[in-house]
Amino acid sequence: MRQEKSRLDIFIDRMVSQRACLDHAAHLIAALEGPVFELGLGNGRTYHHLRATLPDREIHVFERNPTAQPDSTPPEDHLILGDVHDTLPAAGERFGDSAVLIHADLGGPNLQKNDAFARAISPLVEPLLARGGVMVSSDRMYFESLAEIALPEGAVPGRCFIYRR
Ligand code: SAM
Repeated sequence: MRQEKSRLDIFIDRMVSQRACLDHAAHLIAALEGPVFELGLGNGRTYHHLRATLPDREIHVFERNPTAQPDSTPPEDHLILGDVHDTLPAAGERFGDSAVLIHADLGGPNLQKNDAFARAISPLVEPLLARGGVMVSSDRMYFESLAEIALPEGAVPGRCFIYRR
């Protein structure tokens, strides 16, 4: 047995954790009304999964450089183009605190950079979440008023984090 996890192990843990956490979050928000925010489109895997899991929800995607294939790209009126440092505060003016699920997967391979980024955007994400709403993140977030909740079965600790208002 290997002592250390390989990059492949870590990648698989992240994928498995994202799916487990998003499916769990979908159950937690079932009784709530409001939009879903996907922060970071990437190649659109988690956006595609959210659409399949929550077909009746409005899903708004925040991305500065959308490059996903067409079946995993949101329609233009649900794509919020730009840097989240600018688009999250603007979303506050447009949506208030109505988002019932916010999923963030904005990081890259540099863990220190990801942590600094998570610290910077936490106060921008926090006011957007509705009461009872759920935030799923690939990085630890730094919230003042949201509680970290237990991961569902199948999620790997440290690869995914869930918070609730
Ligand atoms: N969850 C996605 C998937 O399943 O395919 C992968 C997301 S990928 C790891 C991260 C995405 O976040 C990239 O598309 C990147 O362009 C975007 N991103 C990173 N920093 C951003 C920022 N400051 N503003 C907007 N988008 C950003």
